[in-house]
Amino acid sequence: MSSTAGQVISCKAAVAWEAGKPLVIEEVEVAPPQAMEVRLKILFTSLCHTDVYFWEAKGQTPMFPRIFGHEAGGIVESVGEGVTDLEPGDHVLPVFTGECKECRHCKSEESNMCDLLRINTDRGVMLNDGKSRFSVRGQPIYHFVGTSTFSEYTVVHAGCVAKINPAAPLDIVCVLSCGISTGLGATLNVAKPEKGSSVAIFGLGAVGLAAAEGARIAGASRIIGVDLNSNRFEEAKKFGVTEFVNPKDYDKPVQEVIAEMTDGGVDRSVECTGSINAMISAFECVHDGWGVAVLVGVPNKDDSFRTHPINFLNEKTLKGTFFGNYKPRSDLPSVVEKYMNKELELEKFITHEVPFSEINKAFEYMLSGAGLRCLIRMDA
Ligand code: NAD
Ligand code: ZN
Repeated sequence: MSSTAGQVISCKAAVAWEAGKPLVIEEVEVAPPQAMEVRLKILFTSLCHTDVYFWEAKGQTPMFPRIFGHEAGGIVESVGEGVTDLEPGDHVLPVFTGECKECRHCKSEESNMCDLLRINTDRGVMLNDGKSRFSVRGQPIYHFVGTSTFSEYTVVHAGCVAKINPAAPLDIVCVLSCGISTGLGATLNVAKPEKGSSVAIFGLGAVGLAAAEGARIAGASRIIGVDLNSNRFEEAKKFGVTEFVNPKDYDKPVQEVIAEMTDGGVDRSVECTGSINAMISAFECVHDGWGVAVLVGVPNKDDSFRTHPINFLNEKTLKGTFFGNYKPRSDLPSVVEKYMNKELELEKFITHEVPFSEINKAFEYMLSGAGLRCLIRMDA
């Protein structure tokens, strides 16, 4: 047992008091884990666009004050009642969507949408008692997607924690706890391109480039990157992207441009932007008869997807995925092993690094489209 088990811990956390305003490093109190919860010491975290969307709260439900963050690596500090498969000292990746291992979804080979612990961006509290484990000067602070990793300590449901190989460097594999696994799995588990096929990737951020990495691993021969920011193209070459399209360079819809480049459409497409227009283009640019499009980007709350139903009759398929269809507890340890065996490169996704005290810089990098992932070191 650690000396802090069962006690409230005071530590630093980056609190978002208001939408779109810089985070403030505060002294927060973190309550002990309750039944089926674990308290983690976060060592490294990084910023994903999903944090930025909910922090900006444009077209999303605002919920403040809140502690964001869901891509991270850490160590179990203490466990609550009923937790049997985790213990203090375990190396773990917290994940925004969980796996109870008991519901119909967890028992299905096809689904990772756990009935109990699937992603919920509007909850903001722990399931056990409907309350927050964080407070600042007595005021409760909302959680974010059950992880809230922009804090030196956080409390997470045990079903949202993947126990990984302790030899894996947490400052690198932490990016597998969301974006990179999501993009990789969207291609390998959902789009499933055949060797020699063509794949279009919409959005060349970390998630899209991980999807491109998946296409490269699957043996796709053409990987077409689509982004509104041409600065992304140089970086994307390192991820196997072979051709680039900036929709701004054309006065016709990008799906028509892609259809012309590929004799009727790509075999697979993966959308990693969050833009509803890109989602529609990603679907319409696949080849009739066999094309499959996979949506990954998180849309605005009021978006709706419009396409002519004839596209479906023409045998184009539309799919979507959270977390690349990986089950966090069962599958993530093996994705970490792919990195350990050098099948998967992760270093190239980490383009910036800041100490926790400068976490707002990570937001600036993402908002300006600079780089891919910014590693945030909690101990610095
Ligand atoms: P990012 O901001 O680093 O990258 C997004 C890229 O999309 C940018 O390069 C941007 O220029 C480009 N883009 C935006 N609109 C576009 C358009 N209309 N056409 C072409 N390109 C466009 O973000 P990220 O961290 O890589 O995340 C990508 C998306 O994936 C976000 O929507 C994020 O919320 C989502 N996401 C989903 C899951 C999931 O499980 N489904 C998990 C993680 C992230
Ligand atoms: Zn479940």
